[in-house]
Amino acid sequence: MNYLRMEDLDLAGKRVLIREDLNVPVSDGRVTSDARIRASLPTIRMALEKGAAVMILSHLGRPVEGEFDPQFSLQPVAICLGELLGREVRLQKDWLDGVEISPGEIVLCENVRFIPGEKKNDEGLARSMAALCDVFVMDAFGTAHRAQSSTEGVIRFAPVACAGPLLDRELKALAKGLHHPVRPMMAIVGGSKVSTKLSVLDNLLDKVDELIVGGGIANTFIAASGHDVGKSLYEPDLIHDAQMLIQKAHAKGGSIPIPVDVVVAKAFSNDAEPMVRNVDEVNDDEMILDIGPLTAVEYSRMIAGAGTIIWNGPVGVFEFRNFAAGTRAIAEAIERSSAYSIAGGGDTLAAIDQFGVTDDISYISTGGGAFLELVEGKVLPAVAALEAAAAR
Ligand code: ADP
Ligand code: MG
Repeated sequence: MNYLRMEDLDLAGKRVLIREDLNVPVSDGRVTSDARIRASLPTIRMALEKGAAVMILSHLGRPVEGEFDPQFSLQPVAICLGELLGREVRLQKDWLDGVEISPGEIVLCENVRFIPGEKKNDEGLARSMAALCDVFVMDAFGTAHRAQSSTEGVIRFAPVACAGPLLDRELKALAKGLHHPVRPMMAIVGGSKVSTKLSVLDNLLDKVDELIVGGGIANTFIAASGHDVGKSLYEPDLIHDAQMLIQKAHAKGGSIPIPVDVVVAKAFSNDAEPMVRNVDEVNDDEMILDIGPLTAVEYSRMIAGAGTIIWNGPVGVFEFRNFAAGTRAIAEAIERSSAYSIAGGGDTLAAIDQFGVTDDISYISTGGGAFLELVEGKVLPAVAALEAAAAR
């Protein structure tokens, strides 16, 4: 990670443009969860303390490019940020042609996704953004996997481009787990579909000592092992890929365990009656919605022996109370473990929240897509651009 860091730069009197991820839920013009705004505060305060004129960029939602839509305005974010900082934060609607600002001041630029070209990483747009500042700070991990004008393009043209403390901390925490793991290293990959995580599974197999699959993904592996999965969510087209992954694990002297028991139901519903079955006894009219109690104990035992744990994806339909026990057991086993544990993924974070284990996971990634791409072993475009900028 050979990029410049904001901490190390002299920002006194400089115009500093900071890309944050302030994409928060908004309802009736009010921010309903300010976690991402609070996460950005140390970076903003540090820039102000260093004497910078601070301009902040962010996206919010998915507006149509080229059309101002009040529903996607950052106005509620400006108000919330102002309250948290204890000072007024000015929202500037049109900012691309220049922002009038003095050192010690702070301006929030209106939703960057209103501007045509942002999403396709338009070079002219990136140059205009770069022209606003002396120093560009990339601090938005959650968008670092997207090559867009405000996340990648601008880095190529800014006079100086560096990583913000939030991005830097996240990259370091994930590198510690992924590249310098305490062994044995274990990954738990659950969720709905193998297709969305095939390269994640493949890449993890090269790294980890143990891989546990869960959820709809496990169903495809169960089918690949020759068992009937009834009406379960699974992907018949990917049975061959699952078999290749199983073979790859065997070639390394390991295995991808499948559950010994599962919780099934006749309908995909919170009210469906849960029934525990051996994995080879699932009926045609049943669907697997969770791992069974014996499997939960076995996986918890494996988790207890791990030195590093990477977790993405619930192992069951945890949103339904009757089918949440497996995911709860995994979450609590990670909570009890003294391993270095990292977790990421939208639904995984919801599960962690639901089971109240947030404080006992070593690092919870803020980025879903960006987290998975790092786990896949990819270099994030924004990070590659920062490294190239530092080398210039
Ligand atoms: P993440 O967002 O953490 O990466 P995914 O989006 O891949 O996770 O998957 C989460 C979804 O998978 C949840 O909505 C959950 O209900 C679903 N899921 C888990 N197990 C099953 C299952 N056995 N059958 C159907 N859906 C499942
Ligand atoms: Mg998800």
